[in-house]
Amino acid sequence: MMRSFTENKLLLLMVVAIVAGGISGFVWGEAMGSVAWLGELFLTTLKMLIVPLVAASIITGVAGLGDVRKLGRMGGYSVAYYACTTLIAVAIGLLMANLWQPGVGVDLASGGAAPTPAVGDVGITDLILSLVHANIIDAAANMKLLPIIVFCILLAAALSTLGEKGRPVILFFEGLNEAMMRIVEWVMLFAPIGVFALIASKLGSAGGGDAFIAQLAGLARYALAVISGLLTHAIVLSVILWIFARRSIAVYLRHMGTALMTAFSTASSSATLPLTLEGVKLAGVDEKARRFVLPLGATMNMDGTALYEAVAVLFIAQAYGIDLSFGQQMLVLLTATMAAIGAAGIPEAGLVTMVIVLEAVGLPLDGIGLILAIDWFLDRCRTTINVYGDAVGAAVVGRLTQEKQ
Ligand code: ASP
Repeated sequence: MMRSFTENKLLLLMVVAIVAGGISGFVWGEAMGSVAWLGELFLTTLKMLIVPLVAASIITGVAGLGDVRKLGRMGGYSVAYYACTTLIAVAIGLLMANLWQPGVGVDLASGGAAPTPAVGDVGITDLILSLVHANIIDAAANMKLLPIIVFCILLAAALSTLGEKGRPVILFFEGLNEAMMRIVEWVMLFAPIGVFALIASKLGSAGGGDAFIAQLAGLARYALAVISGLLTHAIVLSVILWIFARRSIAVYLRHMGTALMTAFSTASSSATLPLTLEGVKLAGVDEKARRFVLPLGATMNMDGTALYEAVAVLFIAQAYGIDLSFGQQMLVLLTATMAAIGAAGIPEAGLVTMVIVLEAVGLPLDGIGLILAIDWFLDRCRTTINVYGDAVGAAVVGRLTQEKQ
């Protein structure tokens, strides 16, 4: 009760901050640059959380699979389902961003501060090589997240095979994971001020008039690109449900209705988990499958988040006038997939891990300021798809494992 009261108040404050930021930027223009540091404070605090948040989330997620040597059919099918659907989601995101071209005409670069990012073309061997780094501490210090993710997956897999000896280490990371989620909640209390400052200074530097309108129009196209991508992915998931789990889409959606609405209203897959479990139970999905696929999926399988990250990164690139090559877009495909695995099932986690994708292709983090304006809404939309993806996964894995018994 108390919690939802605070959440609603925060949401209201966010909306007020966005509107006030927009108006201040429009009215006072360049002068709003004086509050830019508050926005930077907010973004830097989020950045501070990335390495421990991603590491703890991945280690607890992978360790949750149990001994990887005994992964068995259920584990194998689940991992395959998570990987395939997340990759499809990112591909849809890339397609939508290329079709809608939301960032074209937004012109963030002329606003001043944006550095010219050095992004070289990326070949397939570079892509593979970027997965590992000789020194993991150096990778963490320089925010090279991909090698950290690979290292954490290996570490968790190894820990899972150690039995009693591995337990304390896994428990340590479980505690760290919970603590990091708590800190994100605290940082989000500061979000209204950060968002106000980011929007006011960003829109202010657009100089009012046409440039301001162009940014708003770009933002609207960006939101449409994300939403149409999410809807397309929902259709793909429904087809997967129909083909692989042989279930009626309408009946399944009816059972999942409460969970999906809760996902939309809480913007948290983890908070929705009890209702997702209930909905899938009502739909008659095999108990072992739902108990395995859903808790793990709530932190590891985030189709909506992956899709949104791909659109957001391309939006920012376009807004800076940077054309990402096919190779670079493939790097986005890989990093967005990893970043979604690394995101926790809490509000705005995707925004934190999006930095991974931006860093990977060498884009300035400044662009996040613009995206923040509507993230409170898009977060809800993508969380709904995250939960639907998990629910469909439970039905598919349940059916496939039953068939083979
Ligand atoms: N809020 C999302 C979730 O809980 C994660 C995200 O921020 O994308 O599923």
